[in-house]
Amino acid sequence: MTAPQTLDAVLSPGRTAALDAACETLLPALQTDAGGALGEYFAVGARDRGITATVAAAVPGLPADARDALLGLLDELAAREFAQAAVAERATLLIAAGERPGPARFGLRQLKTMVFGLLFGRVDEQGRNRAWDAVGFPGPLTEPPTPEQAPKTIPIETFAPGAATISADVCVVGSGAGGSVIAARLAQAGRSVVVLESGPYRNESDFRQIESVGAEMFLGGGLVWAEGGQLGLLAGSTLGGGTVINSMVCLRTPDDIRAEWAAVGLEGLDGPEYDAHTDRVWDRLGVNTEATHYNRNTERMVAGLSAEGYAHEPLPRNASLDDDPRFCGYCNAGCQQGCKRSTLATYLEDAAAHGARFVVGAQVERVLVRDGRATGVEAVVGGPDGETRLRVDAPTVVVAAGGIESPALLLRSGMGGPAAGRHLRVHPAWIVTGVYDEPVEAWSGQIQSAVSFDLTHCESGAGFLVESLALSLPTWASQPAFVDARQHREELLKLPYMASWHGVSHDHGSGEVVLDRDGRALVRWGLDDDVDRRVAARAHVELARLHRAAGARQVFTFHWSERRWQEGEDFEEYLRELQEAPPEDYTAYSAHQMGSCRMGADPAEAVADGRGELHDVCGVWIGDASALPTAPGVNPMITIMALAERTAAHIAAAG
Ligand SMILES: Cc1cc2nc3c(=O)[nH]c(=O)nc-3n(C[C@H](O)[C@H](O)[C@H](O)COP(=O)(O)OP(=O)(O)OC[C@H]3O[C@@H](n4cnc5c(N)ncnc54)[C@H](O)[C@@H]3O)c2cc1C
Repeated sequence: MTAPQTLDAVLSPGRTAALDAACETLLPALQTDAGGALGEYFAVGARDRGITATVAAAVPGLPADARDALLGLLDELAAREFAQAAVAERATLLIAAGERPGPARFGLRQLKTMVFGLLFGRVDEQGRNRAWDAVGFPGPLTEPPTPEQAPKTIPIETFAPGAATISADVCVVGSGAGGSVIAARLAQAGRSVVVLESGPYRNESDFRQIESVGAEMFLGGGLVWAEGGQLGLLAGSTLGGGTVINSMVCLRTPDDIRAEWAAVGLEGLDGPEYDAHTDRVWDRLGVNTEATHYNRNTERMVAGLSAEGYAHEPLPRNASLDDDPRFCGYCNAGCQQGCKRSTLATYLEDAAAHGARFVVGAQVERVLVRDGRATGVEAVVGGPDGETRLRVDAPTVVVAAGGIESPALLLRSGMGGPAAGRHLRVHPAWIVTGVYDEPVEAWSGQIQSAVSFDLTHCESGAGFLVESLALSLPTWASQPAFVDARQHREELLKLPYMASWHGVSHDHGSGEVVLDRDGRALVRWGLDDDVDRRVAARAHVELARLHRAAGARQVFTFHWSERRWQEGEDFEEYLRELQEAPPEDYTAYSAHQMGSCRMGADPAEAVADGRGELHDVCGVWIGDASALPTAPGVNPMITIMALAERTAAHIAAAG
């Protein structure tokens, strides 16, 4: 893979001036009579907050497509003498640049994400941000336990800089929901197992209840945009993968999906064997509803659902019974209280107890093959003193790097056949926010605790789950449409009064993963499937209705264009506007990436056979979300882990 470019190579003086002016246009110093934190919130612009410098420093490390889009925008602005223009004119120019769908809009979206994300995401040495005081966000509530109180119990191997070779029966690439299950089961079956994880090893002693600190456990350091910027992607990248930073929603694979997958070659998936795999996962994770408690955000959602006549129920979660909801708002930055029964606390412990070896900071670059059989992998391992080129000799390789990175690994290795990277499913999530009279403080309490299944088949058999959602300050600051700098800052003062829910849709169409020119994974996705577009419109309409029924005074969405309703305005007209929004105006989010190395009997349409082994290379198995034949239509962790139990059994049986 190609190394990132330097700052000087990408930011010429003209681009630097345009970047500085653009940051200052989005987040200018504004006149205010207010004092204290509120006064500072308005009066200090991007440059004086250090945001502009941080954005500039981050540009070279952006994925190639996002970097090109942002630099293209800066060139376009520089050509119009943007930096020399008056403030009001700059705002007009910037908004106009993003009006047309295309690279300039993507560049502006990337810039907005960084600038407003940093407004609430940056922390000082004390781990605080003055803008939090302006909006009443409490910040961290407790200190993490010390390393002695929360020791890291999984042994990690390290290497001197240079080159090293180790060997094992099985090499597992990625330690998330899927990889950890397979590592544990094969180690328990007596195989020597090496797990290579590109992320770091973090546990309770590192979890600071700060989103920007927790971001180091996310792929790409947080929200990453698919090509073109219509889909925001979130995925874990740490020992334990997504299970360490996810929201703990546990749902079983629906029966209709099981039947569908059995029909494409996943034998027995519709029978008792798969029930047993799921039960094992359920038990090991300690899934329950006893520890589920609604916060005010979910109470509002449940009130809206009841008022509109929809059923709802508490979500099962893999939380321990002593889960204290006061601290659950920080769940996606890791559970400091240790109540999350992630794979760090379960399957990876099991693997370690049975002799599995672990390497972190290990980026696997390719799978090695001789005569159509796996022989191992090559990785680059980062360390404090320098890099090690590590070769793991292993006749069995389990690819479990997640729905985005697994296909990239296969593509870099020249294997997987014509389906590698295709058929990516993402469960597009559509977010609609309501603003209420009473504080909701949707950042506090359990972030996802109730669900309604009533709309799962509402459009041509497709549809969406209604679930509540954590309110992340950086996300809610950066994703609404930008119309005016002062209005934007004023609207953000309503953050404590916002309730945030999403429709998690069961996608009908698909995207793909390809390699960009740096050899990195590039996700391609657009709202180009007609059923998906209708589901997206319906989700926005229904969520807006639910908010209104729950008493919201204002409703807004994350469309690119401003789509906001205020009490007193014609609500039916607003719903019509949502219904008719053009496809390119939608913004989707996905924390579920699946299907990009899918299983199935047909090698033209599937990467792996119905057991999980590649059609074109013996000894390489797919063990994660990318193996799912289609989207399950429910939060996928339990499905991924149950399938991994099944794949582990097949690997063990293959000898
Ligand atoms: C914020 C968030 C909230 C979520 N909430 C829920 C929820 O409540 N319920 C639910 O069911 N699902 C949830 N999910 C989704 C769920 O966590 C994922 O679907 C699941 O973890 C995917 O499992 P996986 O094994 O495919 O990949 P991951 O768990 O993502 O693990 C893949 C691992 O591979 C590593 N890796 C990647 N590339 C390489 C490489 N080249 N070499 C070595 N290692 C590599 C990554 O660092 C990562 O740790 C959430 C996800 C996110 C991001």
